[in-house]
Amino acid sequence: MTTISANLQSIHARIDKACRQAHRDSGFVALLAVSKTFGVEAVEQAHVAGQTAFGENYVQEAVVKIHALRHLALQWHCIGPIQSNKTRVVAESFDWVHTVDRIKIAQRLSDQRPANLPPLQVCIQVNVDGGPTKSGVAPDAALALATAVAAMPGLCLRGIMCIPDDTPDLIALSSVMTGAREVFVRMQLAGLAVDTLSMGMSADLETAIACGSTLVRVGSAIFGGRARGPIDPLALA
Ligand SMILES: *Cc1c(COP(=O)(O)O)cnc(C)c1O
Repeated sequence: MTTISANLQSIHARIDKACRQAHRDSGFVALLAVSKTFGVEAVEQAHVAGQTAFGENYVQEAVVKIHALRHLALQWHCIGPIQSNKTRVVAESFDWVHTVDRIKIAQRLSDQRPANLPPLQVCIQVNVDGGPTKSGVAPDAALALATAVAAMPGLCLRGIMCIPDDTPDLIALSSVMTGAREVFVRMQLAGLAVDTLSMGMSADLETAIACGSTLVRVGSAIFGGRARGPIDPLALA
């Protein structure tokens, strides 16, 4: 067994345990394997171990991997910030985007989504705890943005994502994650068909599941520690 497949097993065990403790069905918590900075070989190993959904932050790096692995039935999620000049390649290459936080980016992604592909699956990134410099729409503005996204033909609104600031304070973390859940529930109450609350990473997936996460994004606990910044994925393969 490879390290990656052993790591995937232990992540599934952590998810199952967290779900039992939260009295939730683990069938409602999906695992996104965050493969940023790792090469195609690492993704292939995870795929052999049964993982099909992968998250990437850096568009250029991701596109090389997506192309190299196009023979596999993988689902690719963009979880990094998106600049206007990258929307076309994102719309053409990914299945999901978790980081839509303004109408202009949403509109470009919808307009640029190729007609032969299904709509791009979208989460609105919500900034629950950060100041104005942090990515994500303010909680108060999230419902309006989600409503606009839901009406765009190239997009399919799925829910929200959040990236809480790093903190060792579990109570503070829980309150941020509960705040995200409240935004999500408000969308449901407003009649939007959302099913995805994307939150939780290697270090905090248990807290996220306790707070209602339906999708955890796990990188280092599957693939190992990373160097900072994007890499050339084929050079590492
Ligand atoms: C890198 C990253 C992750 C994975 O983080 P780990 O701590 O390695 O599990 C999850 N979500 C986002 C948005 C990321 O950028």
